[in-house]
Amino acid sequence: MRKVALVTGGSRGIGLGISQCLAGDGHNLVICGRRPEAQVRDVLSVLRKSNVEVLYIPVDVASRDDRSRLLEKIRQHFGRLNVLVNNAGMAPENRADVLEATEESFDRVMAVNLKGPYFLTQAAAKWMLKQKQASLDYEGCVINISSISATVASPSRGDYCISKAGLSMATRLWAARLGEFGIPVYEVRPGIVMTDMTAAVKERYDKLIAEGLTVQGRWGLPGDIGQAVAVLVRGDLAYSTGQVIMVDGGLTVHRL
Ligand code: NAP
Repeated sequence: MRKVALVTGGSRGIGLGISQCLAGDGHNLVICGRRPEAQVRDVLSVLRKSNVEVLYIPVDVASRDDRSRLLEKIRQHFGRLNVLVNNAGMAPENRADVLEATEESFDRVMAVNLKGPYFLTQAAAKWMLKQKQASLDYEGCVINISSISATVASPSRGDYCISKAGLSMATRLWAARLGEFGIPVYEVRPGIVMTDMTAAVKERYDKLIAEGLTVQGRWGLPGDIGQAVAVLVRGDLAYSTGQVIMVDGGLTVHRL
């Protein structure tokens, strides 16, 4: 039976790269995002060309009601969920120095990037455990898309860095809790990836990359992250639960 994979924020950027790779491997998809379905219809049609089912559900992952509606709709439509990819995330609306940044920005970034995925994992994990009890063949996994910002300090977006550091701990917590049930939890940690999120700082990063910021002298592409996620969903890193998979072109390799 095909797996059902939920990719939050799966209709553009890194999430779309993940959706494309998982559809290419024959998994049915549930994609959620803030935009109404009418705005993502073209993307959904392209994904469906891989002969998989694709369901789109507009939600705000920061909202408890939206998260429970999301899982309820998946239950009604597919009756199962194998893979949760917590990809949806946001940069602070205004990059601001840690000396000036506001509590409002902190609260929103933490709600979307950390609280949302943490409690979506909680709800999905409870359902995964029931599915495992019902069928020993059941295969589930959770993948969190964090960022090099989990460890690389950017004082112009402290809230974002803290949210990703928290997501990294959430990965280890859920890995520790779900391990006995055979449900692995991984963290994929991208470097600098060309998406709408980085469009505003493209020139700055172009220059840094040209000057050697990354070992592999190019931007990351959504497909680079998608391929890493596909490896995990295939079960090819079966003895690595709780681990960080770096996809950063060597940006965090210390050099002298
Ligand atoms: P993006 O192009 O801005 O896309 C973000 C996606 O997340 C969109 O699909 C968006 O939905 C969805 N989303 C945002 N807030 C949401 C909310 N409250 N509820 C539901 N969906 C929401 O960003 P990206 O660059 O692909 O980033 C994807 C993930 O990778 C994020 O977690 C980001 O932190 C992480 N990351 C990015 C980079 C990078 O360099 N780009 C590097 C490291 C990590 P709509 O499409 O409906 O707006």
